[in-house]
Amino acid sequence: MTHYGMMIDVSTCAGCDACVMACKYQNATPHGMYWCKVIKGEYGTYPNSGQTVLPIGCQHCTNAPCVRACPTGASHYDENGNVQVDYDKCIGCRMCMGACPYGAREFNWGSMDENPYYEGFEQTPYEQMRASEHPRGVVEKCVMCNGRTAQGKEPACVQTCITKSRVFGDLDDPDSEICKQIAEKGAHPLMEELGTRPSVYYVGLQ
Ligand code: SF4
Ligand code: SF4
Repeated sequence: MTHYGMMIDVSTCAGCDACVMACKYQNATPHGMYWCKVIKGEYGTYPNSGQTVLPIGCQHCTNAPCVRACPTGASHYDENGNVQVDYDKCIGCRMCMGACPYGAREFNWGSMDENPYYEGFEQTPYEQMRASEHPRGVVEKCVMCNGRTAQGKEPACVQTCITKSRVFGDLDDPDSEICKQIAEKGAHPLMEELGTRPSVYYVGLQ
């Protein structure tokens, strides 16, 4: 068994949004939908001020409120210990969205055919090719790049990160780089007190 997870070092994150765009391109998410986000904030008063960043997406909880809330079994755990949505079983009730404390899920209001990326223009050939992956009326979120990991690749956000602030690996393997870094840096999940037991760990939060 594997248990894929991620560690994000916020102290080295440049807030460049490269991961956001890599995710969008990799997964061809519809217009306005982002599975990976970087929340920006500010602290202090000029000239003693700065920007805070928080890269966030599905935390792939192992005690996931979304899975418990889903009435159809659409939201489920996969063989890698990550949370996925079976679009064929999703009835679009959005119970999972209400249950997720991390705001990680988005509802697909219109298929890519109805909602082309560039308003007023036809779908691009790329959109036409990927449109069937995003059916109307389902809830979507980060899939931990399960297509890429099945090929032995890292998730797109990890591979593209210019500061190597993201580490991906097997949380069940104590010798993995991710486990070593979590222990060494003292990383913790977000909102640990909720008992959701996420698979994403953070260090360096401001
Ligand atoms: Fe579910 Fe939200 Fe946890 Fe992701 S972050 S597994 S959507 S509860
Ligand atoms: Fe499950 Fe879909 Fe309803 Fe979410 S919207 S709870 S995934 S059926």
